[in-house]
Amino acid sequence: MKLGLSVRSRLLLLVVSLLILLGGANLLLAHTVAEQRTRTDQLREQQQRVDSINAVVRDLSTYRFALGQLNSALLVDEPEQLRLAREGQVAARADLDRTLETLALFDTATVATIRSVLARLPVELQLLVEAHLAGEEATARQHLGSFRSGLELIENQLQAATDRELAASLAAQQNEALLTRRDITTSSVIVLASSVAGIAIALWLLGTIVGPLRQIVHSIRQVNLGNTEASMPPVTPDEFGDVALALRQFRDRADQLRELAYTDSLTGLGSRARLEHDLEAALADHASGDGHRPLGLVYVNLDKLRNINDSLGHRAGDRFICEAAQRLKQFLPMDAVICRHGGDKFTVILDELDTGDPARASEVLSATAENIVRGMAEPYPFRGHLLPMTVSIGIACFPADGNSVELLVTAAEAAMFKAKRAGGNRAEFARPELTDGARERLAKIADIRRGLIAGEFEPYFQPLVDVTTMRVTGAEALLRWRHHSDGIVMPKQFIQVAEESGLIRSLGEHCLRRSWDYSRSWQASGRAMKVSVNLSARQIEDRTILGLLRDIRPANDSEPQLDFEITETAMLSQIEHAQATCREIRDLGFRLSVDDFGTGYSSLSYVQRFPIDKIKIDQSFVAKIGSSREAQAIISATIALAQRLDYEVVAEGVETLAQMETLRDMGCTVQQGYYFAKAMPANEFRDWVARYERSA
Ligand code: C2E
Ligand code: CA
Ligand code: CA
Repeated sequence: MKLGLSVRSRLLLLVVSLLILLGGANLLLAHTVAEQRTRTDQLREQQQRVDSINAVVRDLSTYRFALGQLNSALLVDEPEQLRLAREGQVAARADLDRTLETLALFDTATVATIRSVLARLPVELQLLVEAHLAGEEATARQHLGSFRSGLELIENQLQAATDRELAASLAAQQNEALLTRRDITTSSVIVLASSVAGIAIALWLLGTIVGPLRQIVHSIRQVNLGNTEASMPPVTPDEFGDVALALRQFRDRADQLRELAYTDSLTGLGSRARLEHDLEAALADHASGDGHRPLGLVYVNLDKLRNINDSLGHRAGDRFICEAAQRLKQFLPMDAVICRHGGDKFTVILDELDTGDPARASEVLSATAENIVRGMAEPYPFRGHLLPMTVSIGIACFPADGNSVELLVTAAEAAMFKAKRAGGNRAEFARPELTDGARERLAKIADIRRGLIAGEFEPYFQPLVDVTTMRVTGAEALLRWRHHSDGIVMPKQFIQVAEESGLIRSLGEHCLRRSWDYSRSWQASGRAMKVSVNLSARQIEDRTILGLLRDIRPANDSEPQLDFEITETAMLSQIEHAQATCREIRDLGFRLSVDDFGTGYSSLSYVQRFPIDKIKIDQSFVAKIGSSREAQAIISATIALAQRLDYEVVAEGVETLAQMETLRDMGCTVQQGYYFAKAMPANEFRDWVARYERSA
């Protein structure tokens, strides 16, 4: 039954009804007890009547005896004896009158009869004696008969009264027993009924509170689990109604937030969270039932987004991504779930591959991927440019390539990287060996983490030499991994994985701290040496490097013995961010070089936006000195321009005397390369510098 009462009123009602029940039961019980008491009083009265009749009987026999005595005394005519007998008769008669008075309280008729008979008795006795004395035996016998019959009458009256009272007493006792039994039954029924009614009311009222509470808790749990379709408690006109309304608002808000989290704000496609949610649900669905129905995950990566961001700015990049999203929708079936996986990556769940034949499923996937590759490749006209929109696609299938979201995404991503390495603009299927590659990568990440804790990473130092003075002007810190089982591991084996996994931050910080220690110890020993440390794009991106630099900056204003190299591509990948971070590094007093200059797609005028001091000509140009006139022309133009812009120039990868001389003649005097020395451990480096400068 529905109650239109508030919870507070319900509790009040509960208390009041229990009080009424208790009070009612008490009143009924009190009434029964009072009734019983009255009946006990009646019984006692009855007993008293019987007792008083008995007293009359007793006093009557005493009186009769006294009369007998008196009779004898009269006959003997002995004055003293007569006096005593008379006194005895008077006393007995007084006693009898008293008990008769008590009896008269409830049986006046009997007492009246007895009294009238009693009044005659002494007279009859007197007449009997007189007749006797006169010798009139017949008259005497007559009076004796009257006397006896008077006594008999009294006795009969008393017997009758006794019988009456005894009968009444018996009836009263029987009635009492009956009524007592009835009272016990009634009291038990009252107690039982009021307890049952009380418990029923209490349970019912509590039910109207506990029931809705349970429902509310259930609904909250469902919403927390993300089930916003869960049924909601009804909106009743009580406190629970208020909670039900608030709960609906909570559900709607949770729904909105989920929708927000599930939508990519730029393209309106699903977000990565949506992919994870939908893929998990789809996998559960496809794994249920008999056999595993196939499902495809297509991982699409735009090949050229970075170039567009770098050359045309981020807004153009955003337009490009939106256009790509539109095209993807166009080339995919209506029911495909398309999500933006972040940056330039998209994922697509294709779950209608139920062809009954796994080979057919691959064919469908392959055809879809081909469709996307071909369809998207159409250049995108933007502000007078025709931007190529090629994509690299990786395809993973459930169940062949994995049975969890993580495994499938990793497999599809690995396949996409394979497509990219093969030049992009193509699709690749995930193969077990690719997934093995991913597994290897995970193992390497764990190994790097272990190596960092075990202190296996150490910077080696490669000298920078001024070829006009033959003095060592500084050194570049290059990380080496003294692997506990593999020996010295070169950066090529771990830098990329560290970059991709983010571990490069810890590695970079470690290299920086170690380099700082060495440079200070060299300074303390009298041969200061400037050490250049490489910074990765990640370190510039999250700016934690700045805190570290504030810590190690020299207290006085002396020039720090550290500077930093940032590759041209790292600088340009996050242009605004990088500019701000570079400026702050520079403001802290540290100098900056552009590393691998010439390998990016930018020009020196572009790099000029950064507060840099030095550029390092990439070794690929140096290697071509003597074989490529073009490379040589680029080097000399770069050196000339850098000098005009007041940048120092360093040439990297100098391996031969010819290269050294050519560069020197072009005006690049500071050089680095195997021609001078390879990178070496810190302790060897000091000796090498001393030896080199002595021999020069
Ligand atoms: P990089 O910064 O361009 O460093 C120069 C690389 O060229 C070093 O390789 C160096 O040993 C090598 N090299 C020097 N002279 C010659 C030469 O005459 N001929 C040839 N063929 N190579 C020469 P390494 O030490 O293997 O380092 C490779 C890359 O690893 C570095 O390139 C740098 O990008 C990265 N790396 C090394 N240590 C760190 C670090 O602590 N942090 C970061 N972020 N990256 C690092
Ligand atoms: Ca470098
Ligand atoms: Ca370099």
